[in-house]
Amino acid sequence: MSDISQSTIANLEKAGLGGILYKPEQKSYEERVASYWSLTAQLKPWAIIQPRTTKEVSKALQTLVNTTDCNFAIRSGGHMAWAGSNNIEAGITIDLGLLTTTTYNPETKIASIQPGSRWVDVYTELEKHGAMVAGGREGLVGVGGLLTGGGKTFYTCRYGFACDQVINYEVVLADGSVVEANRETNPDLFLVLKGGSNNFWHTFVDFTKNLALNPDDHILAMWTILPQTKDHFITMVLTNLDGVENSKSLQGFLTIPGGQGNMTTSTVAKKLVDFLVPSGKHDTWFTLTFKLDARIIKKAAEVFESLAEELKRQIPDGNFYISMVLQPLPRSFARHSVARGGNMFGIERLQDDCVLLVAAVEVETPEISSQVGFPTLKAAIAEIESYARSLNGDIGFLYLNYCDGSQNPFSTYGEENIKKMKEASAKYDPTGIFQARVPGGFKISKVE
Ligand SMILES: Cc1cc2nc3c(=O)[nH]c(=O)nc-3n(C[C@H](O)[C@H](O)[C@H](O)COP(=O)(O)OP(=O)(O)OC[C@H]3O[C@@H](n4cnc5c(N)ncnc54)[C@H](O)[C@@H]3O)c2cc1C
Repeated sequence: MSDISQSTIANLEKAGLGGILYKPEQKSYEERVASYWSLTAQLKPWAIIQPRTTKEVSKALQTLVNTTDCNFAIRSGGHMAWAGSNNIEAGITIDLGLLTTTTYNPETKIASIQPGSRWVDVYTELEKHGAMVAGGREGLVGVGGLLTGGGKTFYTCRYGFACDQVINYEVVLADGSVVEANRETNPDLFLVLKGGSNNFWHTFVDFTKNLALNPDDHILAMWTILPQTKDHFITMVLTNLDGVENSKSLQGFLTIPGGQGNMTTSTVAKKLVDFLVPSGKHDTWFTLTFKLDARIIKKAAEVFESLAEELKRQIPDGNFYISMVLQPLPRSFARHSVARGGNMFGIERLQDDCVLLVAAVEVETPEISSQVGFPTLKAAIAEIESYARSLNGDIGFLYLNYCDGSQNPFSTYGEENIKKMKEASAKYDPTGIFQARVPGGFKISKVE
């Protein structure tokens, strides 16, 4: 162990945090490393610290900040797939995985949710009260990362992104102080937390909306190819949030020839218990947004087919998995966000209804991932983007939660929002701790 790693661990122990500090030889350490969704993100930090309270978060942060030269990472659910986004090799990981309380106040209809919670647990608790919030669509995704990155939800078609429903954040600043951020108190910080990722920092969120169990129409199309069997699957996740089984607006999808659709009525929590995306592979994700134009969708399909062929050529045992998900991003989504105070995406600037594409390649080893998965998927996305551009259909918007680490989502959020994030960063983190000492994730200081 290096001197700096030893002195950092000693400082955390001196601060009385030894009981929540896990070191490499400990079982808890191994368990927390293994709990990242993707093998790609399972880095080995010097130690992992798991605070149980906001006070412990603050103390851990202060101790790390005061230990010059020690970098650190922040994680909640650990679902972001790229290496270093939520974890670190040379440094300490602050793991919010023990902060998992959800409480609901029926008088105010406000849910208070801690960042280490998984969405399925949040929904299960809220459904006991006949209430619901707009969050992740896969049960084990974490609250902290999804919300600070925005949050595409079953309810986006009706209420905007997950972050648009938040009315208050409890924030631990880089100097260890704990502040509230809402429309009245620190409103500039409140706004940049809606999409600004880990450039600012929060531990607790309050959701206002009691969405009850009365949703809307949500559509997601996922195309997967299993190379070994050569099977192609197109899975539609169609959700009528009012519980109408044969919703009129979904008929076009339900009557597609060859479809085996069966709509059933369920609650969000029950649905998500069954819907878990398998983990434990080496993953690459890339995203792209383009105008709703059938020619571009067709091109994306062709490129995806060629990608499958290329991967089969380069990975002869066929031990990989690829998927491409297409989701609508109509202008109405941005209107819902603006009506709730706005967020950092700036998609209200867009003049067209759009499509949000996210594609993923999963492979068995880090070498195949870096030498094959990453470059082939990157090239495929570039080809779709270039075709979209040739039709004037490329939309310069990259949704942070779906980005690869080599993409630059903040640069696509519009000049005004970049300025707001830079100003808030200078005001609330004047020494630049979350820029320099938390190297992982997307950094606003790196945007020109
Ligand atoms: C299977 C699967 C399904 C998904 N489904 C959806 C979906 O339906 N909708 C959607 O929008 N996205 C979805 N995503 C993407 C997901 O939103 C992101 O991966 C998100 O970052 C995960 O949240 P997390 O808490 O697990 O984040 P982590 O991986 O723990 O962290 C991600 C980033 O957020 C930062 N961060 C985490 N907690 C905090 C905090 N408390 N304060 C400040 N920064 C913090 C981290 O430092 C890191 O940079 C999905 C991902 C997967 C793998």
